[in-house]
Amino acid sequence: MTTASAATSTGSTHAPGATAPVSAHTPASSSSTAAPSAPASVDCIIAGGGPAGLFLALLLVRQGISVALMEAHGDFDRDFRGDTIHPSTMEVLDELDLADAVLALDPGKVRSLMLVSGTESIRIADFSRLKTRFPYIAMMPQVQLLNVLAREATRFEGFHLLFHASVNRLLYHNGIVNGVTWRRNGTDYEMRAQLVIGADGRASRVRRLAELEMVKTAAPMDVLWFRVPQPPGAVDEQAAFRFGPGSALVLLDRGDQLQVGYILARKAYGALRQKGFDAFRRSCVEVCPALAPVIDNVTGWKDVALLSVECGRLTTWHKPGVLCIGDAAHIMSPAGGIGISYAVQDAVAAANILTEPLRDRNVNEIALLAVQQRREKATRFIQKFQSVIHDNIVASALHSRHRLPLPWFARLLPHIPLLRDMPARTIAFGPQPEHVHHLRTRGPAGSGHLT
Ligand SMILES: Cc1cc2nc3c(=O)[nH]c(=O)nc-3n(C[C@H](O)[C@H](O)[C@H](O)COP(=O)(O)OP(=O)(O)OC[C@H]3O[C@@H](n4cnc5c(N)ncnc54)[C@H](O)[C@@H]3O)c2cc1C
Repeated sequence: MTTASAATSTGSTHAPGATAPVSAHTPASSSSTAAPSAPASVDCIIAGGGPAGLFLALLLVRQGISVALMEAHGDFDRDFRGDTIHPSTMEVLDELDLADAVLALDPGKVRSLMLVSGTESIRIADFSRLKTRFPYIAMMPQVQLLNVLAREATRFEGFHLLFHASVNRLLYHNGIVNGVTWRRNGTDYEMRAQLVIGADGRASRVRRLAELEMVKTAAPMDVLWFRVPQPPGAVDEQAAFRFGPGSALVLLDRGDQLQVGYILARKAYGALRQKGFDAFRRSCVEVCPALAPVIDNVTGWKDVALLSVECGRLTTWHKPGVLCIGDAAHIMSPAGGIGISYAVQDAVAAANILTEPLRDRNVNEIALLAVQQRREKATRFIQKFQSVIHDNIVASALHSRHRLPLPWFARLLPHIPLLRDMPARTIAFGPQPEHVHHLRTRGPAGSGHLT
């Protein structure tokens, strides 16, 4: 087993306390602008300011571990990437004393998940029956949640948040990753660390640079997302999955708005477009007649966002000095809307396992493997659960010329007391919910840095 070398023992050439513009040995660099005031080294570099990256950053800086969080964009705003906060995530927020700050933002609350076909409907998951302080899926723009986390992390001395900072290379010392180069405005900079975390999402660059192998499991769908004003009778504190002949809709209650996901077979978008936008709108209304009075608010293809659904996971999540978590380690389909909660649970597990090794400057592969082992079973389980949904519910709806009856097992479930709460529990918590081990903060609550 190897040990990642300490960030400060790398022999890099820049002055301490300032990020080094990359010099001769980095080919991609162009002329240097003034160096941003970022540190030359930290304990942990996290690539990606999504849910996985921000939760991990906060959990580590609370324990006195210095963190540079590098986000390629200039803010945290990503539309249609999931605005769900599951009970497991609310419980983690509660453990961090942040649940009330999130609830103060007045999120919507989805209390049940319905399966609907024509006039037939089944409450497949009833979150209000769960034994938790948060028996619902909170709905609010993801950017608001991420801003709460970033603000909290900024209270701690060792936190460095770098926007417009795109990680583009891994740096090595004796074959062990011990830093990155990151690019801003065409200039490359170096930063060293004991550990680099790839939390950079499903197209993860860190994963690619570390040459970690992703096994892809094809999913049979793409999704077109759009929003309309909330029509009466569509959903009420609910999420609904509605079947139609050859298509299906996901409906999410967003208060005065309704978020709609139109599911279509993989690569069927071209054919759909050829039929024209009016045909698309008619198809939406056919599946959900309650949309009729509001569908004209989507006026053309520019109002809908096409997102392809992928599914896959890494066979190995780590290499000496580098670990992937969240979508970088396992791409989740939107089925069940569980991607964010799994990303958060990875972050909690990683912080629980890696805080002591980072403090002792001894992040070895045993510790990195322990993170994968802790999270892999839960990930496999939920991806299996998602593929059951894809294969048995979504795919059959997409390939049918007639409106399908609701599946027999869905009809049966609410009548079997032992199984009745299983879908709600699985969606809300997964098989292995994670809890924060280090509840008390160790780092001085000074002020972090925004660069
Ligand atoms: C269509 C669709 C709908 C979804 N709906 C839901 C839902 O309703 N609920 C749900 O729970 N999940 C949903 N998901 C899944 C969810 O979006 C992901 O599982 C979740 O965002 C993963 O979080 P993450 O932090 O791992 O990655 P991400 O949220 O993808 O964050 C990665 C971040 O890394 C940044 N980045 C990328 N490359 C670099 C780089 N080189 N350097 C620095 N930064 C970089 C990106 O800008 C991004 O901010 C959906 C996914 C899709 C595709």
